[in-house]
Amino acid sequence: APGGHAQSDLLDRRLRNIGAASVLFYRDPIEMVSASGCWMTAADGTSYLDFYNNVPSVGHCHPRVVGAMAEQAARLNINSRYLHQTVETYLDRLKATFPDHLENIVLTCSGSEANDLAIRIAQRATGARGIIVTESAYHGNTSAVTEISPSAIKRGGLPDHVVAVPPPSKQAYGDNVAAGFADAVYLAITTLQDRGYGVAALIVDSIFSSDGVFSNPKGFLRLAVAVMQRAGGLFIADEVQPGFARTGDAFWGFSRHDVAPDIVSMGKPMGNGFPMAGIAVRPELLAAFCEDVGYFNTFAASPVAAATGLAVLDVIRDEDLQNNAAVCGAYLREGLQHLAEMDARITDIRGAGLFMGVDLSANGDPSEPGGQLVGDVINAMRRHRVLIGAAGKYGQTLKIRPPLCLTRSEVDFFIEALGKSLRTCG
Ligand code: PMP
Repeated sequence: APGGHAQSDLLDRRLRNIGAASVLFYRDPIEMVSASGCWMTAADGTSYLDFYNNVPSVGHCHPRVVGAMAEQAARLNINSRYLHQTVETYLDRLKATFPDHLENIVLTCSGSEANDLAIRIAQRATGARGIIVTESAYHGNTSAVTEISPSAIKRGGLPDHVVAVPPPSKQAYGDNVAAGFADAVYLAITTLQDRGYGVAALIVDSIFSSDGVFSNPKGFLRLAVAVMQRAGGLFIADEVQPGFARTGDAFWGFSRHDVAPDIVSMGKPMGNGFPMAGIAVRPELLAAFCEDVGYFNTFAASPVAAATGLAVLDVIRDEDLQNNAAVCGAYLREGLQHLAEMDARITDIRGAGLFMGVDLSANGDPSEPGGQLVGDVINAMRRHRVLIGAAGKYGQTLKIRPPLCLTRSEVDFFIEALGKSLRTCG
């Protein structure tokens, strides 16, 4: 039987070393030793299909990415205060994926740093402090972005300059999600103005991943963004989760909404595991910010980061991964719909490309979130050698996020495991 059970002394050492800050998957965590494509291998030899990871987005340990990284690391690795061909080539290539008005790119090492910078730029540009987020959003771990990450705050609630609105779900807004969400943003703007903070930015993950994955209808964000920009605030699209071709129909998640973000933040899949992230920004906003403080980041925009990021862009293009996300994503959706026809506990299937959310409810009532059932299914899936996570306020949504090099037979493996897991749970 599949195990992958970590030796208990390894777990003990982990807990002794990291203490209360240790976060692990599964009560009985898995010791991993290697990975390739969509599969991870545990110390006991069990291989797991990775459906919970959008960092190694072009595939675990992709040889072209690892090769580019290693070759550049062996040649030269320096901070960004020198000129370097590969760095500018990378930035040109990355910039070409964005709308023309986002003319500048600033690289960082994590999505948290990117959002931190984005928020500070927005506050400088608007002279206001207020930020609007969604109810279960996560935007990172610095002190400024922890304050705008309701899902990370366990005690004490949001600070006064941050207002959270319900995510763009049918449960919250009924059939007209676009109008409902825009109304909620309008109300939040009024609240922030009443409190004397004004509005600096609306920041959302453009696929609302920790909120439970909300992708449709296409374009629903446009109204809320217009309301924000008309009020003098900026729109920041957090592309850390949906970016880099995952949604299948576009390279960036915000594109499906036909909106013009003032700042875009990105990260996770950008270096396929090498820590890189950054923002794309309107140059005048960045210029104003740099009048006050400037920005330097020791490890960001190094030649190794650039060579790695460039290889990731090459692989996405050469292996047609955006198209694979669309095609495989459609096939995955068919499989999920088929399961839903046989099991009323699947109450909703959402998403785009290879980013899907599947709601479960123990009694089939969509208004009764099945967080417990999702937890049981996640653990059962592990026994069927599939790694998957949860999202949503009550953990009621299965979060589906495999590498973009997924194949149809891997989709079949996943659907079979989910079917079996559902049959043994509840
Ligand atoms: N934004 C979103 C939407 C995220 O999901 C995350 C990470 N889970 C971050 C920002 C922060 O990125 P990092 O962990 O690289 O700092």
